[in-house]
Amino acid sequence: MEIIKVDHLRKVYGSTVAVDDVSFTVESGEIFGILGPNGAGKSTTVETIAGLRKLDHGEIEILGLSPDNPELRRRVGVQLQESELPEKMRVREALDLYATFYPDPADWRELARDLGLSDKLDTRYGKLSGGQKQRLSIALALIGNPEIAILDELTTGLDPQARRDTWSLIESIRDRGVTVLLVTHFMEEAERLCDRIAVIDSGRVVALDTPAGLVSQVSTEQRIRFRPSADLDDRKLAALPDVRTVHRHGRTIEVVGTGNVLHSITSHLAAAGIIAEELRVEQATLDDAFVRLTGRDDG
Ligand code: ADP
Repeated sequence: MEIIKVDHLRKVYGSTVAVDDVSFTVESGEIFGILGPNGAGKSTTVETIAGLRKLDHGEIEILGLSPDNPELRRRVGVQLQESELPEKMRVREALDLYATFYPDPADWRELARDLGLSDKLDTRYGKLSGGQKQRLSIALALIGNPEIAILDELTTGLDPQARRDTWSLIESIRDRGVTVLLVTHFMEEAERLCDRIAVIDSGRVVALDTPAGLVSQVSTEQRIRFRPSADLDDRKLAALPDVRTVHRHGRTIEVVGTGNVLHSITSHLAAAGIIAEELRVEQATLDDAFVRLTGRDDG
């Protein structure tokens, strides 16, 4: 069942087009990822879905309602970037306060336990670590027992261990039957967690697929790295059949191509009497798919 429908969303700030034309649907029970480089329009998209910003053009339906429907405040949990609480507020006070916002809140003690915050209840917000703050913000997003959780750049700034803990947590949120809309610019995170991913660039959806599907879009591509034993003209390499790009990283040459690119290169080298040292052929990854789709490399 489709529970979020975004149709030709457009959002402009003055002369900046934050979201140009974004459409996708989210199915009930899935973890849907929005992946893209900084400034792509991810936050604007989810904040518009969450009813926090007004759309300029297009249509959004969430749980069959318009994003500004007040009923959604209790049915959708939102964890946004930089949701700061007062430094002096204790964890217990924050949970208690947020619970009063909802008609049928979750038991916050249970949530705190699930999120590993039980022994932090008397700690002030300002004294929490980055990971603990994130876990608290997730608890606050879930306290209303939402049907949908919107999580924006949840793991940015976390160390690798805290990031992995957060991933298990997101999976456990989904296991409770909550649909998750997750904004991220971490490839590994999207790959590990998401059932489907919309890749957004410059305010547009450039691809929408499962992580494996995105990879297979570029998997005909091969990446070949080697160190030539003698001087080599990059332009001649670039002109070979099936070669798409040629780059240098120090003494290493990296060729990306399709089809028989490996054969093209090795026969060219053999004819020139050059040996390919440290030759490696790599499979496509989600990283490659991302770079191909967005033309950028800041995931
Ligand atoms: P992302 O979340 O992918 O990093 P954002 O949605 O935050 O992207 O931003 C998309 C574009 O819109 C950026 O160029 C950003 O500078 C601009 N933008 C976002 N919010 C505002 C705002 N309130 N006023 C003006 N420009 C904004």
